[in-house]
Amino acid sequence: MRDRRVAVLGAGIMGSAVAIGLARRGLDVTLIDQESAPMAATSRWNEGKIHLGYLYGADPTLATAQHILPGSLRFAELARELIGGDLAGHTTTTDDVYLIHRDSVASPEQLRERFAAVSELIREHPDASRYLVDVSNARATELGSDELRALSGADIVAGFRVPERSVDTRWFAARLAGAAASEPGVELRMSTRVTAAEPVEAVDGRWRVRGSDGYEEPFDLVVNALWGGRLPIDVTAGLAPEPPWTHRHRLCVFVRTRRELDLPSAIVATGPFGDVKNYNGRDFYLSWYPVGLQAESSDLELVAPRTPRGAEADAFVARVRSALEHVMPWTGRVFDDAESTIVHGGFVYARGRGSLDDPGSGLHRRDRYGVARRGAYFSIDTGKYSTAPWLARALADEIAG
Ligand SMILES: Cc1cc2nc3c(=O)[nH]c(=O)nc-3n(C[C@H](O)[C@H](O)[C@H](O)COP(=O)(O)OP(=O)(O)OC[C@H]3O[C@@H](n4cnc5c(N)ncnc54)[C@H](O)[C@@H]3O)c2cc1C
Repeated sequence: MRDRRVAVLGAGIMGSAVAIGLARRGLDVTLIDQESAPMAATSRWNEGKIHLGYLYGADPTLATAQHILPGSLRFAELARELIGGDLAGHTTTTDDVYLIHRDSVASPEQLRERFAAVSELIREHPDASRYLVDVSNARATELGSDELRALSGADIVAGFRVPERSVDTRWFAARLAGAAASEPGVELRMSTRVTAAEPVEAVDGRWRVRGSDGYEEPFDLVVNALWGGRLPIDVTAGLAPEPPWTHRHRLCVFVRTRRELDLPSAIVATGPFGDVKNYNGRDFYLSWYPVGLQAESSDLELVAPRTPRGAEADAFVARVRSALEHVMPWTGRVFDDAESTIVHGGFVYARGRGSLDDPGSGLHRRDRYGVARRGAYFSIDTGKYSTAPWLARALADEIAG
């Protein structure tokens, strides 16, 4: 006989990890999502960088790196526990190259200093050896002029190599969805759009979840992990969101090549630029921020724009290619060798406003995410994919404990 009944709203990386964690702690979980299967939204269609903090080099306080590090360093082992298997073969295998754009919001000198400080934070962390590779000797190594010339085209003024890795999110999504579906104690309720969560009587008592097609069910506890759809449900639960926040919807390109390509994983930093991830020689993620940014809003929710198909998708891919080739000419090889090309994307929710080309924008920080609570209702801002399994475990421990 299982313990309390919990509704977990949203079956992305956060909701799926919380649901599995709670079920393994003896709770009876219903995992609810509007999609027809778990892990079909943002958590499937992103880049999967397991952040060590280098990307937030525009945040001079190091607060983002400090907030992100503990969870990122434990990502590999917690992910392994969740899916019951290893990530080997499904993560990038070489250090990430950071190419610094001439319009970067932080200068190469500032980044040299901040990267050194981030590396020091990593080296001093007791879990440094538990990352996807051992980073207890983490360093940001500056590229020499020959290497820089070989890797960069126009507008790149410096480069660094840092020991960050990324996970192939589509592979991981399939594994985590399978784990959630087969976990005893997790019942999937898919194709259900959640519309409200309200206390049946007192906030410490039972809560009722309402959804599309007249769905209505009481639970002992509710966890809202709806990411892009989280705030409107918080409002129905009596948890008023605190401004500022911004929702963005971003599109990217996922390419599988015909043969293995020996190319690096690289990011143009720091600001509204783009990147390339090479997960295994054949599966690539490519993005150019100004092309991929489809919509943004500070409303409670942003409606996802239609994903382009056919000629529209081809035109999108051509624009991403042209922008990437301008700064990294070698990226053209990925497009030339494409066996399949998918345009897809997801939501980014951040506790800040402004534009990435403004050094003062709050979007350059990610140090204010986590769990809010009202009685038996919990709302979780995932913040980053990197730290989701770690935050999910902390929440499952708190609830089960
Ligand atoms: C292009 C891009 C690149 C990114 N790159 C990185 C990166 O490299 N590293 C990193 O750490 N983070 C990255 N992120 C952020 C990361 O993807 C997210 O933080 C993370 O995936 C969010 O996980 P989640 O489970 O909270 O959300 P989701 O995966 O979106 O899950 C939420 C679920 O809730 C469902 N839902 C929403 N509203 C409702 C409703 N009303 N009723 C029912 N169901 C609903 C959705 O269908 C979805 O399945 C990136 C994001 C994007 C868009």
